[in-house]
Amino acid sequence: MSTLEIKDLHVSVETKEGEKPILRGVNLTVNSGEIHAVMGPNGSGKSTLASALAGHPKYIVTSGSVTLDGQDVLTMTVDERARAGLFLAMQYPVEVPGVSVANFLRTAKTAVAGAAPPLRTWGKEVNQAMANLRIDPGFAARSVNEGFSGGEKKRHEILQLELLKPKFAILDETDSGLDVDALRIVSEGVNRALHGTDVGIILITHYTRILRYIHPDYVHVFVDGRIAEAGGPELADQLEEHGYDRFKPGSGSATAPIPDIARGPVAGAGAEAGGEASVGAAAAGAVGAGRAVPELADAQVGVASSEGAGDLTSDKASFDDDAPGEGETPNFPLELAADATPAKVQTKEGFEGTFE
Ligand code: ADP
Ligand code: MG
Repeated sequence: MSTLEIKDLHVSVETKEGEKPILRGVNLTVNSGEIHAVMGPNGSGKSTLASALAGHPKYIVTSGSVTLDGQDVLTMTVDERARAGLFLAMQYPVEVPGVSVANFLRTAKTAVAGAAPPLRTWGKEVNQAMANLRIDPGFAARSVNEGFSGGEKKRHEILQLELLKPKFAILDETDSGLDVDALRIVSEGVNRALHGTDVGIILITHYTRILRYIHPDYVHVFVDGRIAEAGGPELADQLEEHGYDRFKPGSGSATAPIPDIARGPVAGAGAEAGGEASVGAAAAGAVGAGRAVPELADAQVGVASSEGAGDLTSDKASFDDDAPGEGETPNFPLELAADATPAKVQTKEGFEGTFE
């Protein structure tokens, strides 16, 4: 059994105006086979938590600790984190023109496993995983995420989850932009991974509807950069009924004492993720580029969705499922020069990689 332990994590983000504190003491312990739903209003810092865990250089850990089976995650590079067994399905998956899905998957698997997967069994595994997720076989030849619909991007994330078999997966709004059928297919994929590999999951979501298909063991309400309340699945039912209003600043209870389950010992010296996150090796670059940087293009083009209706927040009518919400900052400058082979991918933050 493995344990991912986040203790009193404080994270600031680099902005033009200087460092802005976002996470204010996050405590969360996840064991293998457990599903922890992290739910909260837009702008509460959920994606910041995901990015900080993945090692995005723009997110600076100012104090606190993150360990995986006792190993310090915060001093690891992005590719080391992936090799250690961390996986992030991004809210806004990155497009990688010129790099096929088949190439990407194999490169990522090689980087994570430390050796290329045997061709014959790998091909079968990929085909089976694609069939499970109802992904058209033609997808293997297409450029990663380029021209993919919102639902296709999310399915591609879960395809990676199933093939890379991480110890811990952080799924950031994997449910956003999905119609009911796609939501079910994606959820089935997550459940298969859970039962097949005993992965521990942090399921970040704004809405409760995915919890009809993926049943969390624990639910954490994330408000203003930390866990304001934690409980079992019944907490999600309360959110479904009442929304986040009672947790919002000014409602009184946002400043209420944090329950014991969400509290942890205060960790000592902080570690810096920034500067450590550049990815050197070509193969690891596949993981870094594909895994850790939210996407520019998709984040700017909102796809209006009717899926929000009937769910729990007050912004349901105007909710734009694929677009950043108010207070959300999903997009990071990304430079792609990938027409030729080998393809080079570089982000302004320092993630880079080459695909042969
Ligand atoms: P959530 O995922 O819960 O909607 P985020 O983690 O995306 O929230 O954002 C939390 C807060 O941090 C927001 O106020 C957002 O504007 C800010 N933030 C996140 N990333 C950046 C960034 N790169 N630059 C500036 N502000 C950011
Ligand atoms: Mg987010």
